[in-house]
Amino acid sequence: GVSTDSDVVKREAESISKTLRGSSEKFEFQAEVSRLMDIIINSLYSNKDIFLRELISNASDALDKIRFLSLTDKDVLGEGDNTKLEILIKLDKEKKILSIRDRGIGMTKEELIKNLGTIAKSGTSGIINGFLNPISFFGYFLQLFHDDPVEGIPMITDALLVPAFMEKMQSSGDMNLIGQFGVGFYSVYLVADYVEVISKHNDDKQYVWESKADGSFGISEDTWNEPLGRGTEIRLHLRDEAKEYLDETKLKDLVKKYSEFINFPIYLWASKE
Ligand code: ADP
Ligand code: MG
Repeated sequence: GVSTDSDVVKREAESISKTLRGSSEKFEFQAEVSRLMDIIINSLYSNKDIFLRELISNASDALDKIRFLSLTDKDVLGEGDNTKLEILIKLDKEKKILSIRDRGIGMTKEELIKNLGTIAKSGTSGIINGFLNPISFFGYFLQLFHDDPVEGIPMITDALLVPAFMEKMQSSGDMNLIGQFGVGFYSVYLVADYVEVISKHNDDKQYVWESKADGSFGISEDTWNEPLGRGTEIRLHLRDEAKEYLDETKLKDLVKKYSEFINFPIYLWASKE
């Protein structure tokens, strides 16, 4: 058949809403992550500010990691700007993008897929999260004193923790839980409907992870953005209801609030309107 103009427009609209960059390799989120993202994106939770706390804390963790490695091998820091252990926050008012970048350890392609696609937590996250599930809390303490699983007591596994966490998230809608559970990254979808994570790890090329929180994410080798040198830049394409985060004064106050215990300098840049 002959395709009409309206067909083309329709198809284009579909491809924009459904797909990411045509060239990117597509992956499905782990089902639990998808469900979590649905809860977050549909949340009526009013304190959306917390996404910034989570991003600053992730940036700081990434900087801690590269600083730690540099104690035994100072070459990992590279040279020039790469040696600056800092966090940069940028507001692009025209494009309605809030971005945060760090010169931390960065993520390889494999790490982007694993860290930003699955809930792959175990071990110590149980300490914080045990309270979500009394059985696993009890089990956790038993594990502290026994190398082998205790008969009759379920091991702390994600299979146990994740459903309890999901229940709690769904019923309470309390977004503070996501940071405590170790899935704080996904809080970006409180304010953004499209997120890009550009990352460069010393052991790999620069990649872009992207998702519209629709069950899938894309990964591409980055051949178009400026090279980061090392580290991660997270670009939040803000939802209409979240344009307030382009306001410098608001951002400055938030950064001040959340940077109290951060040991790295944070700089805020804003484009002219
Ligand atoms: P948590 O920080 O509790 O582990 P998050 O959901 O906030 O959970 O982040 C998930 C993972 O993604 C982190 O553990 C880390 O491996 C990776 N990550 C997130 N942000 C960054 C970043 N800026 N630089 C490097 N790795 C990151
Ligand atoms: Mg985190």
